[in-house]
Amino acid sequence: MFEFSLVFNLTAIANCILMIMWYFHQKRIPLKSYSFFLRFNIYVLIATAINMIADILYEIEMVDEVGFNYIMALYSFMISFILVVYADFICEYMNLYENNKRVIKYFFYLILICMTVIDFLSPATKVGFYFNRSGYSTGKLGGIYVLLSAVLVISEVAVIIYRRKSVPAFNVFILILSIVFSSVMLMVQYRFSIALLGFSFSIVCLSLYNYIFNPALYMDNLTNLNNKDCMRSYLDYRFGRDKQFSIIFIAMDDFKYINKTYGVDVGDNLLVQVGNYLEGVKEVDDIFAYGSDKFAAVCNKKSIEDVKSISEIIQSRFRHPWYSESNSGIMMSASICCFECPKDAQDYGSLIEMIDYAMSMAKKTNKGGISIAGDMDLSKMRGEKEIEKAVRLAIDRNALLVYYQPIFSVEKNAYNSAEALVRLNDEKLGWISPEEFIPIAEKNGLIIALGECVLRSVCKFIRDNKLSESSVEYIEVNMSPVQLQQPEYYKKIISILEEYDVKPSQINIEITETANMAGSSDTVYDNIKHIVDYGITLSLDDYGSGYSNLDYINHMPFNIIKIDKFIVWDAFQNIKAGITLEYTIRMLNALSYNIVAEGVETKEQKEHLANIGCHYMQGWYYSKAVSSDEFMKVIGKAS
Ligand code: C2E
Ligand code: MG
Ligand code: MG
Repeated sequence: MFEFSLVFNLTAIANCILMIMWYFHQKRIPLKSYSFFLRFNIYVLIATAINMIADILYEIEMVDEVGFNYIMALYSFMISFILVVYADFICEYMNLYENNKRVIKYFFYLILICMTVIDFLSPATKVGFYFNRSGYSTGKLGGIYVLLSAVLVISEVAVIIYRRKSVPAFNVFILILSIVFSSVMLMVQYRFSIALLGFSFSIVCLSLYNYIFNPALYMDNLTNLNNKDCMRSYLDYRFGRDKQFSIIFIAMDDFKYINKTYGVDVGDNLLVQVGNYLEGVKEVDDIFAYGSDKFAAVCNKKSIEDVKSISEIIQSRFRHPWYSESNSGIMMSASICCFECPKDAQDYGSLIEMIDYAMSMAKKTNKGGISIAGDMDLSKMRGEKEIEKAVRLAIDRNALLVYYQPIFSVEKNAYNSAEALVRLNDEKLGWISPEEFIPIAEKNGLIIALGECVLRSVCKFIRDNKLSESSVEYIEVNMSPVQLQQPEYYKKIISILEEYDVKPSQINIEITETANMAGSSDTVYDNIKHIVDYGITLSLDDYGSGYSNLDYINHMPFNIIKIDKFIVWDAFQNIKAGITLEYTIRMLNALSYNIVAEGVETKEQKEHLANIGCHYMQGWYYSKAVSSDEFMKVIGKAS
């Protein structure tokens, strides 16, 4: 057995030394996981060396049985210590500590203390394990020792399963596999008294290296700098330690024109050069490639004046041409913005939000210049964050209100439909206008959940108030282009209507033509086609304002055109606008559309619009948007 153990231990030591060499050879970023990797290897190396020395000394009879047992107690302590360090790493890696569950860490170390006490009592009292030439014997506390090890291993597996969603599935598999593998090796070691644990831990290290710490995962392929994922792990680590640092963010200006003019190869080469240059700026401590043409330089604890002067050094490089093989020098510019942490941001998420916002401001107002985030007016960003929180809360609590504004049919001389308009009354911010919160919800994707809440509310309203028995034939629901850009979104709409037993003819969907409609026209068009095939009619909202073009109405299956309220109002202020509106209505009539005029506020407006051929009126002259109960009263009175 001695020979077998020696071979396994020597292999483990060789593995560990190779991995430690690899660690020091790498362009090292002080990531928590990297430092764990180094520590883990060193501990395995020490444990294995102790085991090997104990075996050799005992074999050549340089120590007696008790002495051997004391060295083995130290070895056994190292093994339990490695198990606890590994458990701690798993919690850290699976982001368990994020939720202040640090108490589990103390639990692991408590187990370690108990195991250590048994370890060091054993050589003299034989209460745990006692080693001799033929193997080992178990004392009174041996069972407890095994139980404590099992608790450790089971806790590790439980943490991995509990937090499995926080890391890629394959990494979960690797972590579990490594635990199963080491546990099997542990059992074999105890059964046959062959030293396998050091070897198995070194194999675990190797697989972790391959799948989890692989430097390629943290490297930007083009510039060979550390990438965005690496930046995230690194800054999480820095924020965790509450250290002060600054970030200089460098975003190339109009880089797509460089690619277009000189070709992608030259563009790539220039980015590599910029990366190399930034890496060489000695005042910069760490540099990251953040996306295709952006870089983030981290400077350790420097005053904002120092950071500004480093930015000036960087900016001065952009006053000179950059040379690529086949050209005689290309001028490029970059917008630079400086951030101080933790003053400007206290965690990675808010730093990224801040970078996004500050860089888009810098590009608008100080392109090619140096901006200081601390000097910028960030009240708009903070305001948007507050509103975003309010929308999120209202969706979670089902507290969004839907109001209804009646639409009057000239021909029927009655309210034949209504527009559903969402309302938000936040505890802290009070009433917030949809003009304010809808664009924010569109930016962060909340509009999907919001739109679903509104449609449900409308369907429930139609069903509960038996609207089919009133003059109101359908309700118009606003739909954002972001919703229609979701593949197969029509299925969601249909399922909601079916859930509430609402007929497709009772719903009309209003869409506004916007610039981003064009970008994903295939998905939008597919959704629209299915919606219309299902029997839901479509309105083009806010016609005449902003982005509307004739091509759009000619190719989309609209049933109703809603003339924007500003166009309506302008027609009564300005002769040319009046003529434009008259001819627009004539054209839309010739194309057989139903026409709704928005913003009808006076009798004069109503009469003139009816005279020039508008069929439907919506506006404060009739009613503002009101709650569902009030709406039922309004249409009740009219009938
Ligand atoms: P919109 O779809 O063009 O809605 C018409 C807006 O004009 C409503 O403003 C309505 O209250 C207002 N309005 C109607 N008649 C008059 C009038 O005679 N005078 C004046 N001064 N205003 C009038 P609101 O409710 O503030 O909605 C603003 C915009 O927010 C809507 O414009 C729509 O684009 C969006 N929106 C509202 N609810 C929803 C929703 O549920 N989903 C989506 N995606 N967008 C919505
Ligand atoms: Mg509308
Ligand atoms: Mg409108």
